[in-house]
Amino acid sequence: MEGLYLYAKKMVELKYPNGHEYKEMFIVGLYGLLCKYKKYHKIIWMIFMQMDNYIEDKSLNEIIEENNLELEQNNEDDDAVSSSIHTFITDEHNNLCHILEKPVAVCSKTNLNKKYILLFLNSWVHEMGHLIKSTLNGYKIKGHDFNKSEGQLRSGLSIHTYVFDKNTFDCSTSSKYALLDEAINVIQTTEAIDYAYSLDGMVPDDDVDKFLSELIQYENNDYGYNLITQEVRKLWSIDEFKKLIEDNIVQGNIKEIENSFNNTMDDDKAFAKLDLLLDHIYYADKNMDCLMEYSQNIQKFDEMVSTYKSKLAQLKQ
Ligand SMILES: [Zn+2]
Repeated sequence: MEGLYLYAKKMVELKYPNGHEYKEMFIVGLYGLLCKYKKYHKIIWMIFMQMDNYIEDKSLNEIIEENNLELEQNNEDDDAVSSSIHTFITDEHNNLCHILEKPVAVCSKTNLNKKYILLFLNSWVHEMGHLIKSTLNGYKIKGHDFNKSEGQLRSGLSIHTYVFDKNTFDCSTSSKYALLDEAINVIQTTEAIDYAYSLDGMVPDDDVDKFLSELIQYENNDYGYNLITQEVRKLWSIDEFKKLIEDNIVQGNIKEIENSFNNTMDDDKAFAKLDLLLDHIYYADKNMDCLMEYSQNIQKFDEMVSTYKSKLAQLKQ
């Protein structure tokens, strides 16, 4: 424990030599992330040192607007958002071209309730999770011709495709695996915070110790994307699935994840089907008229989980 704790503390002291209002939260959060993504500690260091943190008592939109950040709030009830180091601009030939940017994490404190201290830590660690998982192989230029230019940005499992139309200057976007990625990020955030909880009573610094004793009054749980996270937890509890995702999702080996899952399922569309079912579950839950469809999709998802389990068992024989 000691080494990683000191590493986390050193990062915070180097970045904020004059102290910071959320120093304890950063140390505890970074410790959890370092335990969870141990192999990638250099990435965590790089992101934290370069990033801008916007943490304010205002709505997410207000923070974004007031600081002229090029970010979008995806859902009305989101408390936090982040942007990775990779982005595209267009060059003199109107081709998409990759540039590196400062990573940004924005956390709004207005919606947070009594469990504030835990939820706040959770939002920040969640956004750091996205940043860590979008650094390696985070972009790809797919190609250009006279009419259009195409590129992809990756964050975890989620792949965003951009097609820039050179005649109309419109940029269309499409994405896949976004909700699956969010649910996995929620679960991995809970795991990182579990590590942080284990620091309680072990820390030599009084201010961090005080932060921890306040924190652990609240039970650490999955926060965000409730129903789809519950579903994805069923997959996550299968060792083979967790193992397949953990390194590949950081390194960007999405093809490997798709192929391995599809091969196990004996269906070359299985991973895409999983994603589609989660989309349906997520949007049906937001709209009570789709209750029937909703339970059918939950059932279909559960069936896929059991098929995956039994196929894995067959493979072992
Ligand atoms: Zn997220």
